[in-house]
Amino acid sequence: MTDSPSTRSAGSPGNPDLSREAVPGQSVALAPGQLQLRPARRGKPPAHLADLTLAERVAAVEEMGLPGYRAKQLSVHYFEHFTTSAEEMTDLPAGRRDELTERFFPTLLTPVSVQAADNGATQKFLWKLFDGPMVESVLMRYSDRVTLCISSEAGCGMNCPFCATGQMGLTRNLSSAEILEQVRIANRMLATGEIPGGGRISNIVFMGMGEPLANYRPVATVCKRLNAPAPEGFGMSARHITVSTVGLAPAVRKLVKEAIPVTLAVSLHAPDDELRDELVPINTRFDVDEILSAAHEYFEATGRRVSIEYALIRDINDQAHRAQLLADKLIAKGGLHWAHVNPIPLNPVQGSKWTASEPLVEKRFVETLRDAGISATIRDTRGSDIDGACGQLAAEVLETDTRRADREARVARVEAIAGAGEQQ
Ligand code: SF4
Repeated sequence: MTDSPSTRSAGSPGNPDLSREAVPGQSVALAPGQLQLRPARRGKPPAHLADLTLAERVAAVEEMGLPGYRAKQLSVHYFEHFTTSAEEMTDLPAGRRDELTERFFPTLLTPVSVQAADNGATQKFLWKLFDGPMVESVLMRYSDRVTLCISSEAGCGMNCPFCATGQMGLTRNLSSAEILEQVRIANRMLATGEIPGGGRISNIVFMGMGEPLANYRPVATVCKRLNAPAPEGFGMSARHITVSTVGLAPAVRKLVKEAIPVTLAVSLHAPDDELRDELVPINTRFDVDEILSAAHEYFEATGRRVSIEYALIRDINDQAHRAQLLADKLIAKGGLHWAHVNPIPLNPVQGSKWTASEPLVEKRFVETLRDAGISATIRDTRGSDIDGACGQLAAEVLETDTRRADREARVARVEAIAGAGEQQ
């Protein structure tokens, strides 16, 4: 993301810094409340076919002294057969196959592990990037679709205190091909039976590691490549692709201009700035009103209803008065039908005392929204038993002793803010 002008400044006396919930006694990468807008590493992965448009692939093949149609053959292997193996590309000249696959299909991701949950309906992949960092994706099989939740960054610089990934800091952004490889390899495993059940991925959600719109250009390219018909891309429906954001309003406005009508999901988690500043630190840059305005513009431009994601945290943001405030703000911004709210029971992070709301409280939250005329559905939290649900995609979460006092102070502040509304 850019360091664009903020709507309000971070770290001012009115916006106390943030503590975090993590494993006591171990270190975290970011100070409480600190946003990391630039990755720690800048290393670029090797160029890959999936980074290129079909026209660019043709030009690259011609540079190697081969006819342009070879680019189409390579693309069919990649986007339709999900393979990068020279042995399987028998339609390519035998003497050039190895050279072509080395040039266009360098190894970007190495599978480290695949863990199953939910009786095999959920699979969590751990991938190692070419330069060492790990990222994860989660495949979820439903009766009518196969959804892959993908990572767009190694780590995340947004520092949301309830999220395991947010406690790692941002190691680096992923390239388009590194993101697309998560899809291609998962599809390949489905096709070969390495993952049981067959089929292919029908839906993509950018809800793994990272803030997708902080890695804007590669993510926009990935959306185009997922949507483009084969052999340019995977040929998936734009409406089956969901890009989530924690609130980067300028990037949402940029996405409008790309004219790829993907579904936009805004991770709101609180309707009032006081609490959201604590739970979602980027709110100190782009506040609730700003992100809801950008989201409504997205709806107006694309006709796609916006999803509002809301992790329900017990006694923190789950009060009926916050549900009512959320409904009021959505209605004030654009009426009843432009947004759908997905309250999600929080998936607790190891070592955190914040946990999911009570079922009755969850029910009351949803009913308050519905009574106000806002559609709302409690979201499935598939994969929580393998730490694969949103906010849990992180290998290790660490905290130093020096941070512990900040963490405890922060929890106390959040709880004070959370409870304040009840007394009004
Ligand atoms: S909730 Fe999303 S944006 Fe916030 S730290 Fe976690 S991955 Fe990053």
